[in-house]
Amino acid sequence: MKTNLLDFDAAGLTAFFAENGEKTFRARQVLRWMHRFGQDDFDAMTDIAKSLREKLREIAEIRAPAVVSDKQSDDGTRKFLFDVGGGNAVETVFIPEDDRGTLCVSTQAGCALDCAFCSTGKQGFNRNLTVAEIIGQLWQANRALGADPSGERIISNVVLMGMGEPLANFENSVTALRLMLDDNAYGLSRRRVTVSTSGLVPVIDRLRDECPVALAVSLHAPNDGLRDELVPINRKYPLRELMAACLRYLEKAPRDFVTFEYVMLDGVNDSDACAQELLALTRNVPCKFNLIPFNPFPGSPFRRSPSQRIRRFAEILMNAGIIATTRKTRGDDIDAACGQLAGQVQDKTRRSGRRIIDVHEVRTR
Ligand code: SAH
Ligand code: SF4
Repeated sequence: MKTNLLDFDAAGLTAFFAENGEKTFRARQVLRWMHRFGQDDFDAMTDIAKSLREKLREIAEIRAPAVVSDKQSDDGTRKFLFDVGGGNAVETVFIPEDDRGTLCVSTQAGCALDCAFCSTGKQGFNRNLTVAEIIGQLWQANRALGADPSGERIISNVVLMGMGEPLANFENSVTALRLMLDDNAYGLSRRRVTVSTSGLVPVIDRLRDECPVALAVSLHAPNDGLRDELVPINRKYPLRELMAACLRYLEKAPRDFVTFEYVMLDGVNDSDACAQELLALTRNVPCKFNLIPFNPFPGSPFRRSPSQRIRRFAEILMNAGIIATTRKTRGDDIDAACGQLAGQVQDKTRRSGRRIIDVHEVRTR
């Protein structure tokens, strides 16, 4: 089988070249061709000797996941669906704004953590994405968006906030992050690359030590009782430990605050008392809040908090001196809003009963 060069960061590619008796600087050249120029054809790499190009063609390939659909929302948001084999597909969303373009990237097919309000979680977990599948989303999106390596960046920010828990696929996510940061690849600054986690405490420490980038933590509840229900991983890593991990992270982070994501669920976590409790919880942690209006999906038991409620909630945080932004719901006409990313996942973990019920429903209809 050919080696997919999209699976390597600079160090990995250098090692691969060395194993094959080739010089380090060749690896750098190929890295630039692949990532900066979006090239997947060795023959087009004109500054590389023909003999090496031929050798590469025999032993290697540059293969990103195939785009199965590419939809554009009325507000400019664009959603890509990628085939990752075995009946699984994952989604990637590009969100253009005045001063930046953000790509929201997936890291797993499905997710094992089963947060109560998340459509990806409800699908169960299938598998970790490979490095080529993670970085390939950026590679493909750059191509589709017509990125010009000598022009202004179209994708200026990347967030690992699509399907899956990036810290549960640590090695591959970090290798992909290294490529995003590498000047010979995408050259993004650490401040413009964000990992979003539901709170895998020991792995937050690893990220800090191995590849610190901006950190977003999915908080969603101000106390353990409620968070245990909404974000089940909280039963393993409760809030006290999570807050301590955030503080440790900030010692080495490229930004001096953590972003707390907080999904606004009507009547569940959106009261004034919850906001007050959040202030107490995060008192010692330099942070910003990002309030996310809940995005419904078929079968979900929650409702979105009314906008007036969200405004009031934000006001309580702001009055205490904490920056609280409310995420604009974008791309919901193409199901590209937060938590609506479903892709399609062949569920191997559990909830297989659900599929049987679906079949039953079809039969009896
Ligand atoms: N697994 C990581 C990253 C992917 S989820 C994490 O949980 O942080 C990205 C964000 O979308 C998380 O904050 C998640 O809680 C939020 N989210 C999930 N389902 C949602 C929904 N239905 N509506 C709004 N936000 C949702
Ligand atoms: Fe997984 Fe994040 Fe969804 Fe929770 S919110 S189920 S961690 S993708």
